[in-house]
Amino acid sequence: MDPAIIKLLPNIFVKFFAKPYIGGESEDKVIRHAQEIYSSDRFLSTLDALGEDVKSNNDINTFVNIYLDLARKISKLDNFTDNYSRPSISLKPSCFVMVHKKEDGSLDKAKMDWIGCYENIYKICSYAKQQNIRVTVEMEDRYWTEFTLKTYFKLLDSGLDNVGTVLQTRLYRSLEDVKLFDNRSRVRLVIGIYNEPASDALTDKDKMKDLMIDFAKILFEKGTFVEFATHDERYLNRFFKEVVIPNKIPSDRFEIQMLLGVPKEKLQKDLMSGQYLDEMLGNDAKYYGNKKVSFRLYLPFAQTWDNALAYCKRRLIENPNIALYGIKNLFIR
Ligand SMILES: Cc1cc2nc3c(=O)[nH]c(=O)nc-3n(C[C@H](O)[C@H](O)[C@H](O)COP(=O)(O)OP(=O)(O)OC[C@H]3O[C@@H](n4cnc5c(N)ncnc54)[C@H](O)[C@@H]3O)c2cc1C
Repeated sequence: MDPAIIKLLPNIFVKFFAKPYIGGESEDKVIRHAQEIYSSDRFLSTLDALGEDVKSNNDINTFVNIYLDLARKISKLDNFTDNYSRPSISLKPSCFVMVHKKEDGSLDKAKMDWIGCYENIYKICSYAKQQNIRVTVEMEDRYWTEFTLKTYFKLLDSGLDNVGTVLQTRLYRSLEDVKLFDNRSRVRLVIGIYNEPASDALTDKDKMKDLMIDFAKILFEKGTFVEFATHDERYLNRFFKEVVIPNKIPSDRFEIQMLLGVPKEKLQKDLMSGQYLDEMLGNDAKYYGNKKVSFRLYLPFAQTWDNALAYCKRRLIENPNIALYGIKNLFIR
């Protein structure tokens, strides 16, 4: 879809497609949502404040305060069995720095306050650690990869063991980046949502997904906690058959993650109840320990619907397939 057309789409139309993917229009609503899915199905969650392009220092402070507030509120919840079950938080580095871009869309790095950006992220992660809450530093487009990985390892080196990050298999550089992780790390493995050019990334989806299997093997060998994030059941199946089961990876070393709104409820419940792994193991089930697989839903939230709609339009421009998925999901729900 042409970006110009997406910008002109009426909000009511975008809202119709966006609603199933939004975890709530406020912190309190998204927290309630997280509590509901935990108490009904034991689903875990990660909460992400929507909105990327900040326009002023005021916007940056607002984001910092949203996340500090979120961590404070999560820490006070008493209906989760342990710290691991509490909602984690996910954040995008671009929320914490004024973004300057060049004409070709790349970042005008010299104009950006990278130290301030790191300090804002550190402030949130260290406060979250005090509250026993996990944080994931998310991955944006290829212009952010270097900074995000450097930030992640700096956070780890400073003693913050509550942080994880994201690795996008489509980027060629990830073949080297995957080697950087170790047993302190937690990595969400994804194909990547941004349409990157062939000069920097794979364009064939199956190849990107094959690498999810290869990278999962590498990460487990390094002792990294793996968050396998896909909705593609073929690859989820391969993850278990080719990686988890033959290498006897215990279920406390990984989790499966999906986006809210993608209709896979039966699969998600089967993972959590142990039925998925039990069926796959067949006669070998008795030799495998805990068959319940942790499953986490990604719950994005906005402060207002305007904010959520602006975000959804930007995402549509980055990846117009999302509109097609939305239409497909209407029929298979
Ligand atoms: C928890 C989580 C966190 C993520 N964090 C990041 C991140 O930090 N950085 C990043 O670049 N990417 C992130 N992603 C997105 C990821 O990179 C993929 O773009 C996304 O997961 C779709 O890839 P897939 O493996 O499901 O395969 P696909 O082939 O894209 O999807 C398989 C099927 O799932 C359904 N589906 C997939 N995506 C959607 C959607 N958005 N809406 C509706 N239906 C859909 C469709 O039915 C589709 O046919 C995240 C994904 C998840 C699940």
